[in-house]
Amino acid sequence: MTAPTAPTVTSLMSAIRDVGTDPTRGGYSRPVFSTPELDLREWFLAEAAARGLDCETDRNGIIWAWWNPAGHPLTDAVVTGSHLDSVPGGGAFDGPLGVASALVAVDHLAARGIHPRRALALTVFPEEEGSRFGRACLGSLLLTGAMDPAVAAALTDDEGTTFGELCALHGLDPTRMGRDEEALGRIGRFVELHVEQGRGLIDRGSPVAVASSIIGHGRWRVTFTGQGNHAGTTVLTDRRDPMIPASRTVLDVRRIAGLHRGARATVGRLVPTPGGTNVIASRVDLWLDVRHPDDAVTARIVHEISEVASAAALLEGCEVAVVQESLSGSVDFDPVLRDRLCADLPGVPILPTGAGHDAGVLAAHVPTAMLFVRNPSGVSHSPAEHVEDADAERGAEALADVLADLLTTD
Ligand SMILES: [Zn+2]
Repeated sequence: MTAPTAPTVTSLMSAIRDVGTDPTRGGYSRPVFSTPELDLREWFLAEAAARGLDCETDRNGIIWAWWNPAGHPLTDAVVTGSHLDSVPGGGAFDGPLGVASALVAVDHLAARGIHPRRALALTVFPEEEGSRFGRACLGSLLLTGAMDPAVAAALTDDEGTTFGELCALHGLDPTRMGRDEEALGRIGRFVELHVEQGRGLIDRGSPVAVASSIIGHGRWRVTFTGQGNHAGTTVLTDRRDPMIPASRTVLDVRRIAGLHRGARATVGRLVPTPGGTNVIASRVDLWLDVRHPDDAVTARIVHEISEVASAAALLEGCEVAVVQESLSGSVDFDPVLRDRLCADLPGVPILPTGAGHDAGVLAAHVPTAMLFVRNPSGVSHSPAEHVEDADAERGAEALADVLADLLTTD
């Protein structure tokens, strides 16, 4: 009789490959509290239970699964995890790779027979992408008190459902959300493994990197208002068409970003109202995403874009309003923990990232680090995102190496 083979990251990822596939966009659409995201939460709970982990969902909707064979107090714990929600039409690995790798890392730790001196928790954070309610890292922002729970509860999705209503529907009390001292106090150190979302590892001959920093990023909503009218009866000189300044602004976003070394600025979403083919729009909303390592430069870029948007609106007899929806400053991960990961994983490169993560939010409160796993496409937030099977397994081994060190030494 042969022993059953231990699950691998590849086998765990293939078990969820049909959950939340998006036939329209390609890839996966798994917004927070949608059926696919709930199915993935159930999958995680079943996998955690199969490993004998004690699971709980806290009052901010974060899942904790404890591996604590020696019964240590749940303080100064080592915590690792990621998220299961996705952007619309996202890749398979952004989020789930970190969760699957954490499960497999527990298998490695058990197989190695290590004797932990403290507890280990696996976590799953809700609404990391902000794809449903517009605020990325909502779970960790609530946990750390960086976001007012009343403001979070009032956020609405595209159907007009509030985050508070949706939480209540799924057994969470929105009035009990917010900073959780007890949960925060349990985290001694936090490590998130994530697919690399750029090309940093492609030519470096290593499947894994340690993160140095997250570059600052923010989201702004730019609303142009004009006059809705008939596309056939309104002569060109009578029009106040907000699509015109919105379009000019999209081009200026690229031009202005190009003037600031290291800047990234994107308009990935533009919504005309009412949105008819034979209708001049009365309003156009566009969402601006700006990132730069220097927060002062980010502010300058947004200011410059606001100025050109105002000028373009004026030319067309329209108005414009720019509202900041979120802003996260640049984050440098804990240098002591980073150096420790580098010592655990000799020779791995150290890379910054332009993508936000729950680890970036937690970094303001507890020593935090990240591991990146090579993505040969260099593409993320897209179906083209990829990780080779061998790299995925190496990532989980690297995570286990790091966790073993953090769990067994003082
Ligand atoms: Zn992610």
